[in-house]
Amino acid sequence: MNTLLKHHYELIGKKVVEALNKNRFKAEYADSKAEAVEAILRLIKAQDTIGMGGSMTLHELNVCKLLGDMGNKVFDHQGLPPAEAYLVRRQQLTADVFLASSNAVTLDGKIVNVDGVGNRVAALTFGPKRVIVVMGANKIVKDENDARRRIEITAAPMNADRLKRKTPCVLSGVCSDCNSPERICSLTSIMHRAPSTSDFHVIIVGEALGY
Ligand code: SF4
Repeated sequence: MNTLLKHHYELIGKKVVEALNKNRFKAEYADSKAEAVEAILRLIKAQDTIGMGGSMTLHELNVCKLLGDMGNKVFDHQGLPPAEAYLVRRQQLTADVFLASSNAVTLDGKIVNVDGVGNRVAALTFGPKRVIVVMGANKIVKDENDARRRIEITAAPMNADRLKRKTPCVLSGVCSDCNSPERICSLTSIMHRAPSTSDFHVIIVGEALGY
């Protein structure tokens, strides 16, 4: 990776970790993808059941396969037919650990997500005994307005494209607040602090991950 970008990611990544910890999340900085995987695995016990939020970040880190190989029961709805995916999403809500990424994190330590179904936002909020959110430093933004902007011009259009939705943003690359039946943006969540009863970990990675 470009050394200037690496240095920049480290500067803003560590700043965000400090802000997240002030907001009662348990945040740490991982310098590389390999360190991020180590940090994730350190937080998971052999007998833990795992709910997987649909995430390109976790896909790039190959976490689902690693946990399956280690013998953890993994609830992953990706690629399943709708009725089956619905049941698996419900199982994620009571898993021991919920693993996900998020759409953006602000410099003052707020986590912002837009969901279509809502299972990620629900599981991040309450249910699983432990939550682990992994984000590349490319998802760091200045504030909530920038988070919404990032979601509108990057995260949501690219996710709609990945999910092969017939939405205007797949053609234009930019959100137009559509009313398509295939819209993937049903709700927005801003986590100002870690939910009060939750064991909520955040790993900020000094590399670009997901979108
Ligand atoms: S609201 Fe519609 S146009 Fe905007 S990002 Fe979501 S799916 Fe795309």
